[in-house]
Amino acid sequence: MRIVLLGAPGAGKGTIAKLLTDYDGSVQISTGDILRGAVKAQTELGKKAQGYMERGELVPDDLIMEIMEARLKEPDCEKGFILDGFPRTIPQAEALKKLLEKLNLKLDKVINLDVPKDVILDRLTTRRTCSNPDCQEIYNIKSKPPTPDGKCLKCGSPVVQRADETVEAITKRLETYNEKTAPLIEYYEKEGLLKTISSLSSEEIVEKIKESIKQ
Ligand code: ADP
Ligand code: ZN
Repeated sequence: MRIVLLGAPGAGKGTIAKLLTDYDGSVQISTGDILRGAVKAQTELGKKAQGYMERGELVPDDLIMEIMEARLKEPDCEKGFILDGFPRTIPQAEALKKLLEKLNLKLDKVINLDVPKDVILDRLTTRRTCSNPDCQEIYNIKSKPPTPDGKCLKCGSPVVQRADETVEAITKRLETYNEKTAPLIEYYEKEGLLKTISSLSSEEIVEKIKESIKQ
């Protein structure tokens, strides 16, 4: 499948993307994961992106498009891809459209994960992430805790609260979402690609996505 997952921070894009990957071998492409890996490794890209990310602001579109153009040309994308956290602005969506035309590819659907604001806030403040850049498994101190001493169940690395998961940064990320990313809902509605899903259970969401792809 070739889909975009849209939704506020904390809507569950990463979790859903991982489940869909297991379903048909499509690759998950998370710009957030790629950027965090680059920051950790202190590459040129990482150094440029770090400040924006810590403040809860968006990384500039041209940097993101550079990453995405290179990523979508990699051979593993032939099986399909699940875009998680990209596009995040109208210019990114327009650039993606051009890029896909160039690569002769079409999106199947854009899935809008619609989650109530109180659920979002609760999830973001209780979220923890594996600090190993190659793992980045997501935990939740209430519903999916790491080991009692705070280690990742998959790789044993310490599980941490992301620098952008302080209350200030979370508030900023939600504002940024409303201002810059929410307009994509209307954009993709007009493109005839939008499917909004309001379920909260991951299993239900995944079933609905599978159905909407088959149509
Ligand atoms: P979340 O969706 O929970 O906010 P992500 O892991 O998707 O988290 O993104 C973390 C940060 O990385 C964002 O706050 C932003 O600074 C940066 N980022 C990720 N994807 C993009 C993108 N497509 N455009 C601009 N910035 C991005
Ligand atoms: Zn891990």
